Amino acid sequence: MQTINQKRFLHWMDEQAKIGGTDAGGLNRPALSEADLAARDWFHHLIDEHGFAYHMDGAGSQFARLPSQNPDAKTLLIGSHLDSVPDGGRFDGALGVLAAFEAAVTLKEAGVQLPFHLEVVNFTDEEGTLAGLLGSRALAGTLSREELQHPRGGRARLEAGMARLGIDDNSILDARRNPDDLLGYIEVHIEQGTRLESSKTAIGVVTSIVGIRSCWLTFTGEAAHAGTISMQGRKDAFQGAALFARQARQHVIDNFSPGVVNVGQVEMAPGAFNIVPQTARIAVEFRHGDADIFDDMEAALLEIAQESADACNLTLTIKKVDAIPPAPMTPAFVQAVEDAADTLDLSHTRLLSFAGHDAQSLAAVTNSVMYFVPSQDGISHNPHEYTAPQDCINGANVMLHSVRQMAE
Ligand SMILES: [Zn+2]
Repeated sequence: MQTINQKRFLHWMDEQAKIGGTDAGGLNRPALSEADLAARDWFHHLIDEHGFAYHMDGAGSQFARLPSQNPDAKTLLIGSHLDSVPDGGRFDGALGVLAAFEAAVTLKEAGVQLPFHLEVVNFTDEEGTLAGLLGSRALAGTLSREELQHPRGGRARLEAGMARLGIDDNSILDARRNPDDLLGYIEVHIEQGTRLESSKTAIGVVTSIVGIRSCWLTFTGEAAHAGTISMQGRKDAFQGAALFARQARQHVIDNFSPGVVNVGQVEMAPGAFNIVPQTARIAVEFRHGDADIFDDMEAALLEIAQESADACNLTLTIKKVDAIPPAPMTPAFVQAVEDAADTLDLSHTRLLSFAGHDAQSLAAVTNSVMYFVPSQDGISHNPHEYTAPQDCINGANVMLHSVRQMAE
């Protein structure tokens, strides 16, 4: 059975970790920083050295192309990102790029003829130092000019990064690829959780990247003297918010598992030891992988909010903030990864991704799947992030055989 070159692959993993490497053993390689540019140069050389056609698109994403003999064939993209969060770890992203590249080199060396063009990709700014999923959304054509004016990392930082690489707003928006030319996208990533580690499972095949919705809930009662008004007579806004938080948590556990809900901020006014709060404004976020159930979940949470307000003699106002839809993975691609794991005799399970990844950008326009390998103690975005060499190797071998599955 064909397998990747373990020694070469692990050597690349070590080499990339030196670029922007920190004393704590992590990586400080935010998108389009000097360290990220050095990592891009290193990857560019690696691509040249192994005889692939190299190109960079208008969003700065890098590609190594192994063309099919059929010039009209579609393109299968495999990869991830080489950028890190500030003071992050050495596996998040880099594993996916280098596992994909190792798989491609193995196929090329073996002279395997593929019925599709294969491109290994390093997407720009997955982590959101600049805009978040910048390269993958540019390729999918889902990034807007308005957002580039107000990116989450600030316009000045984006402009500085673009200038360093020689790209601009127009080139980023021109990086869109015609979905008709794409066969799909496969990504391997560290899990960033403990589900695989605790169940001693080698591969976690993602069936959906969860959607995220958020809203502000404001409970309004009446400010009053905290000593003289009876406990029964108060319209205490915080009691409504607290009742909601407790009940929403239990309701999600009981009815919407594996969905999650979080109350991340509480603001109360007027805000003093001796005043019954008139308003309590809470930031609520919830996540689920299934679009239909997501609607039910939202309806249930808002109903609990209304009941909590009623029970405490309060009024409720709702301000929706964000709604990122779930990104279901393509069933046939999920199956291909599972077949690859079976071929390699590796245990596997299906799970949801509760974090965002480039695969969610691609899922909007083409067939997509991602899969995870274990992360020790679930630590990530942290210098102590660690995935054992054998798990990295498993990830690369599953990529190799997933591509072969797609070819059959
Ligand atoms: Zn990542």
